[in-house]
Amino acid sequence: MPSTDEFTGWIGLDAKSVEGNLVKSTFQPKIFTDDDIDIRITHCGMCASDLHTLRSGWGPTTYPVVVGHEIVGIVTRKGKNVTQLEIGDRVGVGAQVQSCLKDDCYECTHDNEPYCTEGVYTYNSTFANGDLSYGGYALQGRYPASFAFKIPDALPSEIAAPMMCGGITVYSPLKRNGAGPGKTVGIVGIGGLGHFGLLFAKALGSDKVYAISRSKAKEADVLAMGAEGIIATKEPGWSQTWSRKFDLIVSTANNADMPLKDYLSILKPGGRFVQVGLPEEPLPQVQIGPFIMLNAGLLGSLLGSRSEITEMLELSAARGIKSWVKTYPMEEVNKVLALMEDGKAQYRFVLSN
Ligand code: NDP
Ligand code: ZN
Repeated sequence: MPSTDEFTGWIGLDAKSVEGNLVKSTFQPKIFTDDDIDIRITHCGMCASDLHTLRSGWGPTTYPVVVGHEIVGIVTRKGKNVTQLEIGDRVGVGAQVQSCLKDDCYECTHDNEPYCTEGVYTYNSTFANGDLSYGGYALQGRYPASFAFKIPDALPSEIAAPMMCGGITVYSPLKRNGAGPGKTVGIVGIGGLGHFGLLFAKALGSDKVYAISRSKAKEADVLAMGAEGIIATKEPGWSQTWSRKFDLIVSTANNADMPLKDYLSILKPGGRFVQVGLPEEPLPQVQIGPFIMLNAGLLGSLLGSRSEITEMLELSAARGIKSWVKTYPMEEVNKVLALMEDGKAQYRFVLSN
């Protein structure tokens, strides 16, 4: 049973809302428990997942929906079990707001909260008591404090917000799959997630980092982000040129119409290809042969653990890592949604209240 409190947000009423038809209105957040916080939302980044969800691209969405899971805000209320946060703290909330956190949960006790079977996502998801979850295209939010993270003072809110999903989703697989000294890393798809891929692969000390993009249009930007270069997959012969050069590739490609077989062919023997982009259609069919011949791994990866989120924020603060963002008033969300649908996000749109 949801609370009778009323929050204000930009609400998607049906699949057409993705075209820029969100309606500013009230919604009833989850019931407030002793473990929750309320926040006044100041910033929310716009992730491609918001668009997939608004259009029911991954299966039927429960409407009305409030999307947005790259949230930064100020704590305005806290439950009595919340000891790690104070009223007035600036916190970030990402794409996951709950996992069981029980002592006998293998995932939760091994830094794998995203893979807990009782995980709850920030929107279009249901808490154990049946309340729906609502995201950050809103003025207020109510979330379990265990998935809210203090933002280091050195990180401006609009820089930190998109790290809460876009950043952590690439930071985790880079870290877990050995990005670092001695490694050559490729990032497929230079959008919101992909630009973080370049920034974090460099910050982790990888020797060489390349953008793997459809064209060379983003070349100047990726060089400014620290990449060694850009590989354009629309240019014939690219995969022969780069055959067996990469230790690790993280792919954020947001469309199944991708040259997966060619991506695999540029892995070194023993290399790993981690797909984090989540297209609405199945991936292209590939033969097992290339995997066997290269001892290669095809993996998926979901968000990142709570300790990885803290580590990423601290690393970003210490190194002065800056997300490339363009900020708009949240009131203009419908205009910005249309820009994003057009693939015009360079590299993350952030809404601010
Ligand atoms: P963006 O739209 O910002 O970026 C996606 C990039 O994909 C584009 O910039 C483009 O890069 C590339 N791309 C688009 N079409 C193709 C294609 N046909 N072949 C190859 N590359 C293509 O999206 P986000 O970065 O916000 O999100 C990316 C994906 O990640 C989404 O599917 C999202 O839902 C998913 N996601 C997954 C998470 C997880 O936990 N696994 C968490 C968060 C998001 P370029 O122009 O350089 O080719
Ligand atoms: Zn996201």
